[in-house]
Amino acid sequence: MRFETIAARGGRDVPSASRPLTPPIYQTSVYAFETMEDVESAWEGKQPGFLYGRYGGPNTAMLEAMMAALEGGEAAVACASGMGAHTALFLALLARGDHLVAARDLYGTTTAFLNEELSRLGVETTFVDATEPAQVLAALTPGTRAVYVESISNPLLKLVDLEALGAELARRSIELIVDSSLTSPAVLRPLSLGATVVVHSATKLISGHGDVTAGVVVGRREQMDRVRATMIKLGTNLGSFDAWLAVRGLRTLHVRLERQSANALALARFLEGRQEVSRVYYPGLPSHPQHGLAQRLFKNGAGAICSFDVKGGAPAVERFMAGLRLIEFAPSFGDVATTWSYPARTSHRRLSDDDKAALGIGPGLVRLSVGLEAVQDLIEDLTGALDRTRS
Ligand SMILES: *Cc1c(COP(=O)(O)O)cnc(C)c1O
Repeated sequence: MRFETIAARGGRDVPSASRPLTPPIYQTSVYAFETMEDVESAWEGKQPGFLYGRYGGPNTAMLEAMMAALEGGEAAVACASGMGAHTALFLALLARGDHLVAARDLYGTTTAFLNEELSRLGVETTFVDATEPAQVLAALTPGTRAVYVESISNPLLKLVDLEALGAELARRSIELIVDSSLTSPAVLRPLSLGATVVVHSATKLISGHGDVTAGVVVGRREQMDRVRATMIKLGTNLGSFDAWLAVRGLRTLHVRLERQSANALALARFLEGRQEVSRVYYPGLPSHPQHGLAQRLFKNGAGAICSFDVKGGAPAVERFMAGLRLIEFAPSFGDVATTWSYPARTSHRRLSDDDKAALGIGPGLVRLSVGLEAVQDLIEDLTGALDRTRS
């Protein structure tokens, strides 16, 4: 082979009697075939075979297999982001004229997607207080195809009685879609409680190290085949490296969540005892209005997210920020490092003060994403910052 040919084709096959213990990153956008029969059977799905990057590759297939198994679903589809997963799911499932019932407490971009994109395509959404299954059922119409809720709402940590809702919706053949980004399968397995589809921002707890943007949908096989077909047309596919990182994150998910939940509970208890804090929101606390439901639904703790109201509103929150030494402000959650966010200026900034107040998002509301640090270091940091809010 001449120089140019070696440059174009050389070094691809490295003989080895062993195989990598850790799966490699398949950084290829296309696959090579030996026979036309192989082309046919791979394309028609008669035997396993990868084709082209946008259709998925070995690393996304590994993430999908793990997520389907951990959630107890038949199949999964990995996407480029949580919103990419939502887009593929909603467009696969819904058509013009269909009706959706959704929780009022939702991730801001999801609300915007339902109101500003799906509505243009002729899919109407009715928003309800999903903590009351009766309100969800009262909003159903003959055209309702699906009910959409978050497993724990952000930032006020409201829960949905998935068992009660799932049983009622199953009787009416209506899908129950659960965004489980705040719980992850280490804390909650919605499919075992009556949900029919689970969707994740794998950017958060699944990957867990603040270095991935990804999403996953899990559900029945025929349904996921449709989601994948839509995803392939939309182009919201996940890259190999991000899929590989998400799989690596999943390996420690249950251990991380066990410690993060324990740390979050300790911080929630600590915050409840502080005079500068008027209210703490954490489903693991007996003071949470749905604590009994949390104990029934969750395993291994109540998750990594905890919110609280600082007395004194926005000026007190500014002093709180100035007083923190360890915990950083970052508008996401799920990292191994503890971070905090301020919903009034981040996720809910576009809402009017009245709308924020109606949702219960006041100017003193702080959201913590609790990490793996020694909890005493976190308590000392919060003590210093809360002391500052009084000055
Ligand atoms: C972050 C988040 C999303 C969106 O996920 P991206 O990965 O940012 O696209 C959707 N739902 C919830 C509950 C989230 O926290």
